[in-house]
Amino acid sequence: MQRHLEDLIPLSRRALASALSPGRTTSRALLAVDATAGNGHDTLFLAERVGEGGRVWAFDVQRAALDAAQSRIAEAGFSCRVCFVLAGHESAGDVLPKDAAGKIRAATFNLGFLPGSDRRIVTGAGTTLAALNALAALLAQHGILSVHSYSGHAGGEDEAAKVARWFRALPWDGWRVAEYSFCNKNRNREILFLAEKIS
Ligand code: SAH
Repeated sequence: MQRHLEDLIPLSRRALASALSPGRTTSRALLAVDATAGNGHDTLFLAERVGEGGRVWAFDVQRAALDAAQSRIAEAGFSCRVCFVLAGHESAGDVLPKDAAGKIRAATFNLGFLPGSDRRIVTGAGTTLAALNALAALLAQHGILSVHSYSGHAGGEDEAAKVARWFRALPWDGWRVAEYSFCNKNRNREILFLAEKIS
């Protein structure tokens, strides 16, 4: 039987896809950021959606993860749409070209560790918040910022709390922010934050 309540990943993807639908913008190239590329599943999703002439910047601090992401993108034939960045997402403000400012339609973060890889390599509150500040400034009007946080690993709870505080402090006159979670999921709690920049 098909379930009726949407899971957090498809919910996030629906918002990202909507922000990247060609009718939503007059600018020619659709621009997006995958702040935590991992094995490249979200990178591929964004690369499909930005279309021909669009661009995705995909960040990760692990070379093996970026290599896997790069193969996935090459296999799909989207290599010319993706710029892989072997650096922390907190450097987004320096890495993205100046003319991308105010034009990023979608940015996504999948926090925590990459399943199947070194679990000690995790996103951290300090760098995550620095990246959120950088990307919030780069986002286009009606751009979507999506952050999926996990609390099950060491440091996860603290990071999720700080991320929640950051989103809740965004001003109502500039942003609409929604926070989704399954309130009866007691192990490895997950929260999806979706924010739309409205001005
Ligand atoms: N927990 C998620 C997967 C998280 S993947 C799930 O269950 O699906 C998180 C990715 O972020 C990892 O590949 C990790 O290498 C990367 N990462 C950690 N710190 C980072 C940083 N500062 N900048 C960019 N990527 C980072």
